Amino acid sequence: MSSLSRSGGVSSRCEAISSPIADDEPPPLCDVATPRRLCSDSWNDWRWQIRHRIRTVQQLVTRFPSLQHASDLSPVMGKYPLAITPYYASLIRRADKTDPIFQMCVPQLAELNDPPFLSSDPLEECHDMPVPGLVHRYPDRALLIATTTCSTYCRHCTRKRVAGTRETTISKRRLEQTVAYLREHPEIHDVIVSGGDPLTLSTEHLEEVLASLRQVPSVQIIRIGTRVPVVLPQRITEDLCAMLRKYHPIWINTHFNHPYEITPESSEACTRLADAGVPLGNQSVLLRGVNDQPQIIEQLCRKLVSIRVRPYYLYQCDLVRGVEHFRTPLSRGIEIMEYLRGRLSGLAIPTFVVDAPHGGGKIPVLPTYVVSQSPTQTVLRNYEGMLIAYPEPQDRIAEPVDAPSDVSAPSVWDLAAGHHSHIKPAQATRLMRREAHCSVGPLPETF
Ligand SMILES: *Cc1c(COP(=O)(O)O)cnc(C)c1O
Ligand code: SF4
Repeated sequence: MSSLSRSGGVSSRCEAISSPIADDEPPPLCDVATPRRLCSDSWNDWRWQIRHRIRTVQQLVTRFPSLQHASDLSPVMGKYPLAITPYYASLIRRADKTDPIFQMCVPQLAELNDPPFLSSDPLEECHDMPVPGLVHRYPDRALLIATTTCSTYCRHCTRKRVAGTRETTISKRRLEQTVAYLREHPEIHDVIVSGGDPLTLSTEHLEEVLASLRQVPSVQIIRIGTRVPVVLPQRITEDLCAMLRKYHPIWINTHFNHPYEITPESSEACTRLADAGVPLGNQSVLLRGVNDQPQIIEQLCRKLVSIRVRPYYLYQCDLVRGVEHFRTPLSRGIEIMEYLRGRLSGLAIPTFVVDAPHGGGKIPVLPTYVVSQSPTQTVLRNYEGMLIAYPEPQDRIAEPVDAPSDVSAPSVWDLAAGHHSHIKPAQATRLMRREAHCSVGPLPETF
């Protein structure tokens, strides 16, 4: 986690989420290349999958003999760890950069190319942690980093500073601190259990986390953010589902990025969760050379709804170190949204968001559908380019919306609703100059 110290003064807090973990025994070399049909019992056992992850250059080359110069990748893996479950590795169709699965899990030298505007924590999560590991950014919800372990490390991970640099899980003490904070903040109704991947915890350990959160009456929904259905679907056992059911309402957001990831195994995992009453959403990241074509996202979204997973967010790649080679221009996301609307049911269309640097949070970005506006008409366009005038109500004085509870911290909505007249940037030179000279009264008559 040395990169953390560069973000200035917050490293101890971020590092404090770490505690020793049991499962870091190195996997044996021999089984990594074993064809799946020869070991199907073990193959379907998620703990076997975790124990047999590809973790070293040598294992990578054993599994993909065509990989040349793989030893060059050692510095990359020293910085950002490698782990690929045998299952996820089996989805690779060609062991080179033309393969989307390969790109998402096999390290590349490009990860070491960092333009200066990238940082290790672009969302400034470390600055919004009242308790180490608990990110409280939005008024009514908070995100808990319950583990730094994942079964497969995504090369595009936005928490590269955390995920896998040490494989640790939340301690009892930290969990108690989290619960205490949630009790002091009854405005938090929604806790997102994230990481790392929380479904790499044992069922018992995960149950401890969920049971602790459920002790707080103001926590209404618990969400789990996990890539396990995609990279380790064997983990979604009947036992796990039976445990989750006890803590409803539980929602799960998973992370499919490409239609190749929707397999009989991952579909089965999602079916189990949906049958256990867990609503499923999907958060994809737009990745250059992986899924940055409208037709690929279309196919992904169609397949997702067919396995009862609702496309939720499509993320613009964050400005995080180690992922520059995956970034696409923002306009590509808008092009994709333009393509999807009209072609696909609204149920299958995610919201395209930029998770803003400096902790600005998620900002939705859309093509523009309002073409023009007058007091009597709003001119809209549809996806075909048809222009339509929408007449405003004849009696245009609408009922005023309810007054806000807190006008001392106005938002854009307060301006729109007429509760507040302006929001000033704190650092505008002109405004600072005004403040400095505020004793000057009206212009004298002669000057
Ligand atoms: C994304 C995120 C959330 C959840 O946001 P939703 O829009 O409700 O899905 C909460 N906290 C943090 C810190 C997040 O990054
Ligand atoms: S599963 Fe999530 S946290 Fe883990 S490496 Fe992938 S994106 Fe990062």
